[in-house]
Amino acid sequence: MSAHVEHVDGNALAGILAEFMSADASTLRITCRHCGAHDPMGEVVVERDDAGSIVRCRGCSHTLLVILRDAGGGIRLRFEGCAEIASG
Ligand SMILES: [Zn+2]
Repeated sequence: MSAHVEHVDGNALAGILAEFMSADASTLRITCRHCGAHDPMGEVVVERDDAGSIVRCRGCSHTLLVILRDAGGGIRLRFEGCAEIASG
């Protein structure tokens, strides 16, 4: 961080989050908090059923993410053992 810190509200994140979320999800790189594996999302192990998906690390099998679809159609993303998700 630079010496100059600007305090703004969360609306300031709209642009960068829209850019991040428009990326091809299979190419996002996900880092495991447990073993440090840093693999493309397309290479993780996914267990899924009607309620959602459990995303596991291919290296150590720890749960990285849980993705759930609500009855109302919303989507919830729970960060479990995921240290980072990166685009680019
Ligand atoms: Zn791992």
